[in-house]
Amino acid sequence: MKPDYGQFVPELPDIMKSLEQFYMVTRTDGEGSITYTNKNFLEISKWTPKRVIGRTLWQMFPETDASQKQAHVIWDCVIAGTTWSGTVEKITRDGEPYFVNMIAIPIMPTEEEPFSATFLELNITEDIQLRDQLQQIAFIDYETGLMSRYKLEKTVNDFIEEGKHFSFVFITIDHYYTLKDLQSSESKIELIKSFSNRLKRYFQDNLIARIGVNEFIVLTAFGEWYVQGFLLFLEQQPIYIDNIAIPISVSGGVVRYPEDQKTYNHLMKAALIATKDVIEHGGGKISSLTPESHKVLNRRAIIDQKMFTALDHNNLQVVYQPQFDLASGKVTLYEALVRWEDNDLGMIMPDELIPIAEENGLIHDIGAFVLEEAATLAAHWNRKDRHASISVNTSVREFSNTQMKDKVIDILNETKCPASCIQLEITEKFAFQAEEESSIILQMKELQDAGIQFALDDFGTGYASFRYMQHLPITKVKIDKLFVNSLTTQPKTQQLVEGMIRFSKSMGLYVIAEGVETKEQYNLLEKMGVDAIQGYYIGMPVTSDDIKFEVIK
Ligand code: C2E
Ligand code: CA
Ligand code: CA
Repeated sequence: MKPDYGQFVPELPDIMKSLEQFYMVTRTDGEGSITYTNKNFLEISKWTPKRVIGRTLWQMFPETDASQKQAHVIWDCVIAGTTWSGTVEKITRDGEPYFVNMIAIPIMPTEEEPFSATFLELNITEDIQLRDQLQQIAFIDYETGLMSRYKLEKTVNDFIEEGKHFSFVFITIDHYYTLKDLQSSESKIELIKSFSNRLKRYFQDNLIARIGVNEFIVLTAFGEWYVQGFLLFLEQQPIYIDNIAIPISVSGGVVRYPEDQKTYNHLMKAALIATKDVIEHGGGKISSLTPESHKVLNRRAIIDQKMFTALDHNNLQVVYQPQFDLASGKVTLYEALVRWEDNDLGMIMPDELIPIAEENGLIHDIGAFVLEEAATLAAHWNRKDRHASISVNTSVREFSNTQMKDKVIDILNETKCPASCIQLEITEKFAFQAEEESSIILQMKELQDAGIQFALDDFGTGYASFRYMQHLPITKVKIDKLFVNSLTTQPKTQQLVEGMIRFSKSMGLYVIAEGVETKEQYNLLEKMGVDAIQGYYIGMPVTSDDIKFEVIK
């Protein structure tokens, strides 16, 4: 007896009829023998009804272990009365593979009908092929047929996992962008292709990747002497473009795994540094890391590791440098600068610390730590009626986090610090990225609405400072100490600084000169009309305990 679902529910045969239009359909009996197939199935699988009826479900799958196992899993599921769905590889009658999304449905036995199973399939072969092609494209550089950067990273990680020892070699063509006789883009591609062929011929079975326009990586078990042989090979086998021999030289760096560096990122960075060392000395060579670079990299690696515990153990410290406001004749602001004292490494200054923290992500914790310290101190001063605010440096990595604004507000609330007592400094690098990511400017605007001011730091050192000034919600600029340095010795700098001050003031901005070390510089800047002065001449950065509030010039 069929249950009564009411007259609007379509009958099973009606549903099947519509499904048959879209799906490839097969049905089997309780033994897995095919009892029915529809037209869609026959078209794709190239079977004829005569031949396919009576064959088993398993015969529709490739004979590989994996495929046969999958067919069993599907069948076990169905026979247990459960529906199965997923992606499956099948084969046509001629043995060609095709891919389907399958739904396998058990039809439980009734008094009239024994158990059967219905398989609905959608052909997704084209999607899978497209995916494979995309993967191929992503893994292979289409101009040269060499490995791509993605494939390289994967390969290096595989090598590391397998415990292989190898040289990671960075090779770049010197002066590529200014090579004579290579004006058209076709001839440039031609050169890259010929160069890749030289690499393939010399390095043969070793893996070669192209990771930039004229940048290549070779992975080889051999060391520096073998790699350097490529320079000679290149000399003996010059590259001709339009029958002209193109005189090319290359620079490169060799780094060994595991002796020199232990991860893909570190290998890449070290190889780049080794190559830069070569280029700085005129290029045309492939060398290992210099002992100095080796030392720098090792120190970086140690700092990177130790930074995690430095945060845990509160080894970080904040010092404050006064900023003197000329109009009021008072120190109205202190800039917070982070310090890290380590027992073994000594004092680690921010110029070393911040770039590493930006890379390993700890910049968020360091930023939060400095802001918390600064806000606690500023709130304390505020309660004591000392009218000075604190300026905190921020990195663009912090603002790339969409939670940054909330984090800043949370810290102000926790420390009970009025927003007007805190200012944030951003650099031009920051400004450049803020233009790209609209969420950064949005967060800045929200913080400004909450009462926080923004100052543009290192003003004049980037390319397009003036452009940023119009887009970003900044109220102050800090003229970089680079300009202040040569102010009294270079007349050109004087003109430049005067122009910067005039322009900033015309936009209603408050102008600070930083890095002021002498009375001469101070007097000159005062005459030029800056609003505030910061630098050793006013005061060194000191701990909060050492701040003297009577610092007056
Ligand atoms: P900055 O913001 O331009 O900071 C000014 C730097 O110049 C400070 O170096 C300061 O000690 C130094 N300085 C100040 N007055 C003079 C002077 O008269 N002469 C000379 N030669 N130098 C002076 P510091 O503390 O080493 O900081 C370096 C940079 O690190 C800072 O440059 C800032 O961009 C960054 N930084 C410092 N603390 C933090 C922080 O907490 N977070 C972030 N994101 N960056 C920070
Ligand atoms: Ca600063
Ligand atoms: Ca600065």
